[in-house]
Amino acid sequence: MQASTTISISAIAAELRRRGEDVIAMSAGEPDMDTPENIKEAGIQAIRDGRTKYTNPASGLIELKEAICEKLERVNRLSYESSQIVITCGAKQVIFDGIAALINPGDEAILPAPLYVSYADQVKLMGGIPVIVQTDPSDNFNLTSDQLADALSPRSKLIIFNSPSNPTGATYTSERWSKLAEMLSNTSLFVITDEIYEKFIYEGEHHSIATQDEKLRSRTLVVNGFSKAYAMTGWRVGYGAGPQDLMTHIAKIQSQETTNTCTISQHAAIEALRGPQDSISKMRKIFQRRRDLIADRFDALHGVTCPRPDGAFYVFPDVRGLIDRSDLEDDVAFCAYLLDEAKVAAVPGTGFGTPGYVRFSYTLPDARLEEAITRIEQAVSILD
Ligand code: PMP
Repeated sequence: MQASTTISISAIAAELRRRGEDVIAMSAGEPDMDTPENIKEAGIQAIRDGRTKYTNPASGLIELKEAICEKLERVNRLSYESSQIVITCGAKQVIFDGIAALINPGDEAILPAPLYVSYADQVKLMGGIPVIVQTDPSDNFNLTSDQLADALSPRSKLIIFNSPSNPTGATYTSERWSKLAEMLSNTSLFVITDEIYEKFIYEGEHHSIATQDEKLRSRTLVVNGFSKAYAMTGWRVGYGAGPQDLMTHIAKIQSQETTNTCTISQHAAIEALRGPQDSISKMRKIFQRRRDLIADRFDALHGVTCPRPDGAFYVFPDVRGLIDRSDLEDDVAFCAYLLDEAKVAAVPGTGFGTPGYVRFSYTLPDARLEEAITRIEQAVSILD
């Protein structure tokens, strides 16, 4: 397995900054906004109240599990008992624990690309085989029924979806899900649906594949968390909801791994779900404005195609035209060029299984974002 590309690039950018370079990092996958005050206060209060011990059970505070069940019912129309929820150190851990519970050596996991690359490395870590399936921008990077049919084999065990997607921002409509769910319900595959960007959708609305088919839902792990929606990346709280059997195994794995995620953070997460929700719509409005700005400016660059993504907080332009007319070899060389020439850090599409593209995160204050776009425009113009 490999170290996370995005985390490595953010580390290079931070190192350059320490050396005094004015680097703008468009590589990070986290909101630039601060955690809302009421959530921070709930964390501080938890410390003052001495809620500083292990949680019992290790799979998470019952009150937080109940708040998660209410959210899943109210927002996603998905009913779970609190025993079917496991609270983890971020969504990343529940994805990993789900993969650890499901994948035996030699099992295949179908991973539509461009993909959040941790899925592939986590599958490999468990001895599984990632079957990466390239999706097409003309299908809005959605996996099609034909692509799914081609990828299926007797060794297929799992498929992982991510809508809205990191890195493309693409979402699936209910109609798209319905076709895939029908096919999948006739197999024995498990599904992990990573819905961490649920709150950041600018076109259409969020649909979960888990709502499509009851039979399939009994083999589906729904993943979500607090990092993105509540700007809580450092607090490390995520969760999974799924069939009892699977969740019991996931809880067992977590109990031998991290015990529980931070108790204080879990108290803050209760406030995140039960307190005012207006910070989310404020963030969404800001991100939408930035998305429009960056996508339109990038799309105007010679050799770059950058449609406005449906959601998340990334743009994922196709830069193949630009690479073709320059001396740069590929997207990795292009990102190295941007870092050198424009002092802007971005992540090559290769890091998401899709060469020829670049992921730019627009979680930057407006003035910095404007500065970054201008620097990129200049760096690209001298390639002509
Ligand atoms: N899934 C996706 C698609 C992500 O982009 C990220 C964070 N970059 C995660 C999961 C992990 O989030 P968390 O901070 O909750 O572990």
